[in-house]
Amino acid sequence: MGYCVSVIANTPILPRWHRRELAAACAYLALFVMLDWTSYVQPVLKLGITPWNPQAGLTLAVLLLFGPRWLPITALAVLMSEVLVRQGSPVSGLVLGYAVWVAAGYGVLATVLRRLGLATPIRDSRSAAKFAGVTAAGTLLIAAGYVALFIAAGLLARAHSPNSLPSLWIGDLTGILTLTPVLIYGHEWAAGLRLLRRRIWEGLAQLLALLLTLWIAFGLSATNQLHLFYPLFVPVIWIALRWGVAGSILSTLLIQIGLIVGAQEQSNAPPLLDLQFLMLTLSLTAFLLGAVVTERAAAATDRQRAEARLRERDTALARAMRFAVAGELASALAHELNQPITALVSYLRASEIMATAGRTGDERLAETLKKAVQEAIRASEVLRRLRNFYQGNAGKRRPVNLSSLCEAASVSFRDRLQRAGARLVTRVDVSLPRVSADATQIEIVLHNLLSNAIDAVMHVPADRRLIEVAGNQVGNSILLRVEDSGPGLAEDIADRLFEPFMTSKPDGMGLGLAISRSLLRAGGGELSFDKSRHGGAAFIVRLPIGSEQANAHE
Ligand code: ADP
Repeated sequence: MGYCVSVIANTPILPRWHRRELAAACAYLALFVMLDWTSYVQPVLKLGITPWNPQAGLTLAVLLLFGPRWLPITALAVLMSEVLVRQGSPVSGLVLGYAVWVAAGYGVLATVLRRLGLATPIRDSRSAAKFAGVTAAGTLLIAAGYVALFIAAGLLARAHSPNSLPSLWIGDLTGILTLTPVLIYGHEWAAGLRLLRRRIWEGLAQLLALLLTLWIAFGLSATNQLHLFYPLFVPVIWIALRWGVAGSILSTLLIQIGLIVGAQEQSNAPPLLDLQFLMLTLSLTAFLLGAVVTERAAAATDRQRAEARLRERDTALARAMRFAVAGELASALAHELNQPITALVSYLRASEIMATAGRTGDERLAETLKKAVQEAIRASEVLRRLRNFYQGNAGKRRPVNLSSLCEAASVSFRDRLQRAGARLVTRVDVSLPRVSADATQIEIVLHNLLSNAIDAVMHVPADRRLIEVAGNQVGNSILLRVEDSGPGLAEDIADRLFEPFMTSKPDGMGLGLAISRSLLRAGGGELSFDKSRHGGAAFIVRLPIGSEQANAHE
């Protein structure tokens, strides 16, 4: 084989990828014959049935990896193996017939598996069950055709077929279950080895347990040897539980090899069909259990990632909220203090003039008043700068999908809604055009409005606590309505609702609506209110559609 590969690799006429594929084909043919030869224990009748057929697993793997182009090569492998391993006789019509049948059968099986998306590593129990089921059906059909060919050729009595069919079938199925996934996983072994290095002691203990149970199976003797095989389930289940599907396949592969070696060595090995059923049960148990473990581990990782994303978002939101509160405070302070400071400066200037103009002019008083004017001007300048700093931060405007933003907001309010016994209905269509806004700032607005709505619905009986968020397009804007079934806005504060510090709540700051309106206005949007058809208040957020989106919808 080595010679064949090196000759192909050095042939200059062939393109590089062709040479590689030819080298792979050579390696496959050699491996096929070698596997057939090593697993050729206890052949039954003239069919050459063996306890497991690793070459079936190899063939399915290459067809899954390289596609149906490899069909002639697989037929050639069956022929070569027949001549070299089994009969040593020249190729007959029967041999040719079943080589074509087997290759075509595996070709169809590979195509079906590919169509079902099972040509990639198996990571969940559903795919594992589908893979096992489809493979079982496919190999049964292939084996049935094979046996039928032998019966037709008069080489097998009909009476023998009930036993040889399951033997042949289980041999192929076990070969596929143990070898095909190992080969499909090929490119992932590096990651597996890294993991193994981290848990090397556990891996070694498991290997030791495997070898020990194999020794029990073959080293000890019992009236029914098969009973000594059951301890094998212990390390296999242990490995499957700790390493998932990759570990489970590897462990069954090791056991299969161990069984072959042991069965060859031992004179009183269990009957073929018993051994085969044991191997199949072991492989299936490990395969399905491993897939469940892998699936759970992946789900746990996904959950951790989602939680981390949520935490990150909440932190960003809290930071942005603090910034917005500070901005609103600065703006309110600047607004409120501007007038008194201006008046103060005027009074001080007047006093300064009076102090210097008088006959009894006191230079020290004039100097002090001058300093007081400077300080007052500095104070107003600080306030102005502070307000400009926060107002200048209009955020990073990008196209924002309101539907997913509302969805995320409803997820982060889930616990609070549950505690309040309130129902949140979101009607924001995914097909709505994106708005041009800073996503975090819109989240702050949504957060404030939903938070107020929950506070409001607490004033009505639990069975009437409803909040609705609905979005629709009006011209070049999207209107987002956040309504509730609460008691509605108190009349005395309705006309000053967006002023800072306007609150009707004992522990309220009265900044939420003021902040929300400022943020929306800074981005070209608006916040207004109305009466809700659910009986409470309705807040309407208007957001401009991104310019590209608006053009697309015109
Ligand atoms: P806070 O919630 O801290 O009071 P806000 O600026 O968010 O500050 O709200 C100001 C006031 O507006 C609230 O105190 C409340 O009286 C009124 N308000 C806001 N949303 C609603 C609503 N959905 N239903 C009734 N009143 C509301």
